[in-house]
Amino acid sequence: MTDQHRLRSLRTPALILRRRDFGEADRLLTVLTPYQGKLDVVAKGARKLNSSKTGHVELYTRADMLIHRGRDLGICVQAEMTAPFLPLREDLNRGAHASYCAELLDRLTTEGETDAGALFRLMDDTFIRLSLEADLRLVVRFFELRLLDLVGFRPELINCVVEHEPLLPEDQFFDHTAGGVVCPRHVLRTASVVSLSVDALKLLRHLQRSTWKQVASLKVPTRTHEEAERAMLGYVTHLVERRLQSVDFIRKVRNLA
Ligand SMILES: [Zn+2]
Repeated sequence: MTDQHRLRSLRTPALILRRRDFGEADRLLTVLTPYQGKLDVVAKGARKLNSSKTGHVELYTRADMLIHRGRDLGICVQAEMTAPFLPLREDLNRGAHASYCAELLDRLTTEGETDAGALFRLMDDTFIRLSLEADLRLVVRFFELRLLDLVGFRPELINCVVEHEPLLPEDQFFDHTAGGVVCPRHVLRTASVVSLSVDALKLLRHLQRSTWKQVASLKVPTRTHEEAERAMLGYVTHLVERRLQSVDFIRKVRNLA
């Protein structure tokens, strides 16, 4: 193998975030890898029934991939599934939450960030948790806060975003545009502001500073979850500048249940 060849092919674990049809028989995948970040790769013949080499390119799975790097797009020439995360495709509600997390990561990252180990572990851990855990909202809030830290959009939950004074233990507001909590004395009632109870703020702070182990067994009342969710969805929607399709999808799925 020549040096040039070695540079041009890459064997890597990959999480499949997006998948769409490409040409007659191929699929275009957006994958997340630990050392090359996010990549778009073509899986040749992946839509043919008997495609053995790239047959395992289901959404929200982990695979070991052999990728040949082209000038524009990589070509996935081999894919072997290493973690199927089956519940994400068999359970509509779990799948909707996985779709939201994958889409959010996709929207908030750019291609080819090479130091993506922490992002990769976070996405992998989140697919595992969404496959197993009962409280999917807790998994998703934890994912959002870690992701926002990693991509540089950590929301301000300790001090008021207007005068930066420490927040008092009382009901607050969350300003999507300012990216954090604003106190009752400084709040301006604009379209980007929602109320945030002291319980919902405590939940978000706890998730922001803790490990998953420390929060996994929390029992969160539905009302607290709803408030924390409203604040976070407003914020991330503002960040990606347009509504995530999967947010509406989760709502629709919930309404069916
Ligand atoms: Zn204030």
